[in-house]
Amino acid sequence: SEDLKISTIEKSFARSLIPPRPAYSHKTKYGHVLVVAGSTGKTGAALMTAKAALRTGSGLVTMAVPAALKVVFQSKVLEEMLLPLPCTTNTLSKQALPEIMEFIKERANSVAFGPGVGVNEDIEFLLKELILNCPCPIVIDADGITVLARLLDVLKNARSQIVLTPHPGELSRLINISVKDIERQRINIAQKVAKDFGVVLVLKGVPTVVAEPQGKAYLNTTGNPGMATAGSGDVLTGIIASLIGQGLSPFHASLLGCFIHGLSGDIASKKKGYHGLIAGDIIESIPESFIELR
Ligand code: AMP
Ligand code: MG
Repeated sequence: SEDLKISTIEKSFARSLIPPRPAYSHKTKYGHVLVVAGSTGKTGAALMTAKAALRTGSGLVTMAVPAALKVVFQSKVLEEMLLPLPCTTNTLSKQALPEIMEFIKERANSVAFGPGVGVNEDIEFLLKELILNCPCPIVIDADGITVLARLLDVLKNARSQIVLTPHPGELSRLINISVKDIERQRINIAQKVAKDFGVVLVLKGVPTVVAEPQGKAYLNTTGNPGMATAGSGDVLTGIIASLIGQGLSPFHASLLGCFIHGLSGDIASKKKGYHGLIAGDIIESIPESFIELR
């Protein structure tokens, strides 16, 4: 049965997946993540995704953001680069597509799409074109998953591998099954969605399930209730996209990414407890999680 293909993500396995860091190297060896995220009122989601990617070891991170918010973002970033793009009042517009595609073709090798990016026809158009034409894997999360509900038939024609990282509420909107029913059989549902859509499916929660299209699934073993806080999922998106950019397969990046995300949250909770923990604390603990995995 499907159940026989279920394993847990143990520390030794996570350790074995960590991308090597040779003594002689250069930032261009560690990937360039393009973060397509953020809109008016949700700039923090994009910033946390980008920062998490940097803390996970990406050589370069660029943020594709609405040009109207350029000054806001510019005042917040240090290590990140910005790609300000055509926009409507609050979000990226369809006219942003040529520049996004050109940037990906020339420079990026991993895309994170969705945290705070907004939900409208322009965003839906951008995601559809990316699914069909993007030459590198895409991690789709949050608003990206919401607009994906109208694009499900496009997934089978995806040019590259896709990772979806829904929480049960987002998955519920995607497949029309109630959150309660998803929670009752989260492993089976994650396996079925991964198979039916041909994607790596990261069903977040307790426990997080990572499933791939051939039926193999892993349960994550790290994390704590302090991580049920705004922006926590955006951090996971940045971690997974970073690991893909560093050369891991989308499935391995998702397995290691969930483990590191939860371990970082566990380390952060030692200092902040559960109530006081915020998503930025998870980001700041990513370096210690890599040290613990050495
Ligand atoms: P999001 O809802 O998109 O912000 O994502 C929340 C993140 O925090 C997911 O990665 C969840 O798996 C994680 N998380 C939330 N609550 C818990 C918990 N009680 N135990 C472990 N992980 C959790
Ligand atoms: Mg989220």
